[in-house]
Amino acid sequence: MEGFVNVAAHLEEIDLYMPHFVFYRRGIRSPGIGVFGEYIGVEHNSKVTDCYCTACHERYEDDINSPKHYKHKKFGYCTHCRAPVEYRQMNYGRSTYYYTKNFAVFEGAGDRMHIECIKVSQKFEDEENELQPVLDWHTVTRYELEPGRATQYRLVWERPGYKWKPKKGKAIEPNFTLGCFGYGDRSYTLINHEAVSHSFLKYLFKDVENLPSLYIEWLCRYAEHHQLEYLMHGGLYQVAEQYVTKNLHGIRLNWRSNDLKKIVRLHKVEIEYLAKDDGLWYRDYIHWRKNTFEGKTPAETIKYYSKFRSSERYIKEVQEITNLTTKKIMDYTLKRRNSEGPAFFLICWRDYLRDCIELKYDMQSESVIMPKDLFTLHERTQHILEGIRDAHMNDELQKSDIKRKDLECVDMELGLALYLPRTVKDIAREGAELSHCVGGYADRHAKGKLTIMFLRTLRHPGKPYYTMEISNDLEIVQCRGYRNNLAHNPKPDTIIEFERRYTEYLAVVKENRRKAKEKEARKKRQQTKAKTKAKVKAA
Ligand SMILES: [Zn+2]
Repeated sequence: MEGFVNVAAHLEEIDLYMPHFVFYRRGIRSPGIGVFGEYIGVEHNSKVTDCYCTACHERYEDDINSPKHYKHKKFGYCTHCRAPVEYRQMNYGRSTYYYTKNFAVFEGAGDRMHIECIKVSQKFEDEENELQPVLDWHTVTRYELEPGRATQYRLVWERPGYKWKPKKGKAIEPNFTLGCFGYGDRSYTLINHEAVSHSFLKYLFKDVENLPSLYIEWLCRYAEHHQLEYLMHGGLYQVAEQYVTKNLHGIRLNWRSNDLKKIVRLHKVEIEYLAKDDGLWYRDYIHWRKNTFEGKTPAETIKYYSKFRSSERYIKEVQEITNLTTKKIMDYTLKRRNSEGPAFFLICWRDYLRDCIELKYDMQSESVIMPKDLFTLHERTQHILEGIRDAHMNDELQKSDIKRKDLECVDMELGLALYLPRTVKDIAREGAELSHCVGGYADRHAKGKLTIMFLRTLRHPGKPYYTMEISNDLEIVQCRGYRNNLAHNPKPDTIIEFERRYTEYLAVVKENRRKAKEKEARKKRQQTKAKTKAKVKAA
């Protein structure tokens, strides 16, 4: 396995992707001393800068840029070779400058392609005068691709040392992560990539500008099944991608065939239909055809799929209630739906059917489950159910109201009256007329969890004015007028005064209730006492 890919031959290309530096120092040159001449560190008087560039390996004096141009860790260009570099002070230690990058090096032609995935590091020797970094690399994994086969190799310990062994299972993307922790480091730069265009792999991404992620995995799958190319060029790019990225969710492609129709198990018209979206809905379509509905012809399947693809769930829900066939449900929907579309109709239908069950209608009767005018009938069932629910809530309301009649009061002086809503509907109406959200409190009010009260002027007792919420420990939680008093209608003084007086009134109610409770308890105690006395006597 030695000499799998000659990495050393590609170091020059690899070096282009590594960071480069210009090391600089300022001073006055004193010729004739040392190899490059000695610089005397009189920084503020210097006119030239002594430079070394790691890209072109040149040592030179820059008399174009002023010495002030050079700043430590600033990005710029080498004046000699114009390479983009980072400026670094020459006198600083370089041993901490360490950089690594991942590469996939390609080598091969014709029916064979080798890929060596390497991690390259660039570092400086500890030696202070060494200005040129050293590149070092180690191989992470290797691939050998040939028509019908893609083999990935990994390094395995086997006495007396490490050996490259074929990996079991499918070849997958390289992982450059060192050790077992951290996120997968999977990005890499392609080196000598032209080799692909001289090999059997050349057609897959021909004329494609941006190569996809998981590029090596694409190549491996393509080496295994050259038909992958037919999917790409037959309008089903997304299917190819879902195959490579293992996102086909259990759908197996038939690689034994060379016919695209047989590979994806679709009819010609189905391929044409799905190719409109590059095959994005292939998976969805296959599942639909298998689990929901397959017509007598592919055209029929497509017709229903295109109209009901997003309504599968509602079809199933209607089906559970009615036991109708999928086709019957879809046909009825297409016949009766309005402009809102099939999904809207199906949701309405499902809700209507649930209403029918609640109302104990005959669910065997076709005229019940498939009515001529579903929308009108749905309105009717909702209306009936609403009435039933309201009646139930009003029963609760009356039970709650017996205990809180004492909250009602009239203030003749302010001309205001506060009373309990008579029905649940009254609360909804109040919310609608005053444009605030009291309607949502109706349920809790009926159950006695809180109390909603209407504040009216004595002059217009029928007209919604202010609405109050009283908590069960008898405190005013809120008192709101039209649009929560946010429509340039601040609370009038009479209301504020009423709130003050009512708070006092509530304290009285509280005291009265406490006394009543005590009285009740006393009565009970006396009764039990009397009972025990009677028992004792009887004994
Ligand atoms: Zn240079």
